[in-house]
Amino acid sequence: MAEKKAKKKIVPTKTPMPEQPAAERVANFDEVPYGYTPEQAMAEAQRCLECPKPGCVAGCPVAIDVPGFLVRVAQGDFRGAINLVKQANALPAITGRVCPQEEQCEAGCLLCKKYESVGIGRLERFVADWEAAQGPVPIPDLPPPTGKKVGVVGSGPAGLTVAADLARLGHQVTIFEALHEAGGVLVYGIPAFRLPKAIVRREVEYVCALGVKLVKDFVVGTTATLDEMLKEFDALFLGTGAGLPWFMNIPGENLNGVYSANEYLTRANLMKAYRFPEYDTPIVRGRRVATVGGGNVAMDSARSALRLGAAESLIVYRRSRSEMPARAEEIHHAEQEGVHLELLTTPVALYGNGNGWVKEMECIRNELGAPDASGRRRPVPIADSNFRIPVDVVVVSIGQSPNPLIPKTTPELKTGKGDVVVVDPQTMKTSKRGVFAGGDVITGGATVILAMGQAKTAARAIDEYLRTGQW
Ligand code: FAD
Repeated sequence: MAEKKAKKKIVPTKTPMPEQPAAERVANFDEVPYGYTPEQAMAEAQRCLECPKPGCVAGCPVAIDVPGFLVRVAQGDFRGAINLVKQANALPAITGRVCPQEEQCEAGCLLCKKYESVGIGRLERFVADWEAAQGPVPIPDLPPPTGKKVGVVGSGPAGLTVAADLARLGHQVTIFEALHEAGGVLVYGIPAFRLPKAIVRREVEYVCALGVKLVKDFVVGTTATLDEMLKEFDALFLGTGAGLPWFMNIPGENLNGVYSANEYLTRANLMKAYRFPEYDTPIVRGRRVATVGGGNVAMDSARSALRLGAAESLIVYRRSRSEMPARAEEIHHAEQEGVHLELLTTPVALYGNGNGWVKEMECIRNELGAPDASGRRRPVPIADSNFRIPVDVVVVSIGQSPNPLIPKTTPELKTGKGDVVVVDPQTMKTSKRGVFAGGDVITGGATVILAMGQAKTAARAIDEYLRTGQW
């Protein structure tokens, strides 16, 4: 008779992850969570119930074999675990840190019906960091070159993922990046206290070690058009992201001291404002900074403001806390650090000090009405509820869309609402033969893992196109 599997003892809560105390970390840009020790990681992985129909895999846009990697961590086989993760995901140290796991793999965990899910993201981060600590990352055996050349535009998570997958299939891949550093939002957007830049650099190096060539300071659409590139490459992939910020279009938005989150974070991260006085980056270090928006970008801006010396950092968000799109952990960390949430509030005007600098923000209070197209309850302004907040920096973080530069120089490239590039979602083919796209450029601002999932779909379709020549 088959032996009955012993019933597992349920551990209701996640193994806590040590982190920098809030009072200390607001004065530095060092990473907040320290990560698990091997013992903590094994204990956390042992919480997995090994259920027969794992919802965690279904919830992962790149379909990591989560139960397979958890069982290896539980047994202390960290090498086996990271090898398995990397079969599906070339950037695990990044996704382990920034994925909204609570809405994806962890949402599918059987445990979270009653208790806290297994800390899948924390364990993914652990195995990636464990591998990095062992020395140079081993490169898998690559097939013989196919002789086919693919150009990838943009070095964010979408571009890096498609490049890695195609290189592993033997194609010759070159990434073209407009900026002087590779990584996209991972380097210029997400601050180091959430994603240390050395980690992004390491993952970029891994992709390059697969044989991918990286050309920086190359703006496609200006330095070369897609048509010119198609003379050299058999296929192209557009992973150019959504870097064009939206503004509120309210009076006073052109005053000095008003930034888009994109500009504010680029100055802080890529131009190294956080290493003042070593780098004297031009950025206004306000005492009272108000960030408008409720997503991850807003949280990053508000938390960066504190680290750049603000005495007060405020989030102004038009809906309530439960509609905030930011990751739960980011909101929690922001509040721990002293960021104040001004909820159900919309800015209606900005006022200057007479010398061109912003001084006050006028806001109106909202109540929640019926759900809108996003499924979230719509903010409805309350008449005569206007009030003013003193500010000396305002960071606008209400969304972004793709830059129209490439579509403008490529008339056959079809774009849709919000300037997104239109693709066939099964193949990521655009309207132009030989050109594929994925990531924020097809969705508008979304997530790292969604960009990677689309890039993986594109890599399969590009490979087929290169082998068959069929469009
Ligand atoms: P990007 O990362 O934007 O990369 C596009 C790259 O293309 C850039 O390097 C750009 O310079 C380059 N490029 C653009 N145009 C050209 C051109 N014409 N020629 C050459 N190169 C070009 N997502 C999460 O999952 N979790 C988070 O916690 C999270 N936090 C975020 C915080 C911030 C501040 C921001 C801005 C975004 C955040 N996101 C987060 C969203 C996530 O970063 C994006 O969804 C993801 O980076 C999209 O990847 P991508 O490769 O499509 O584009």
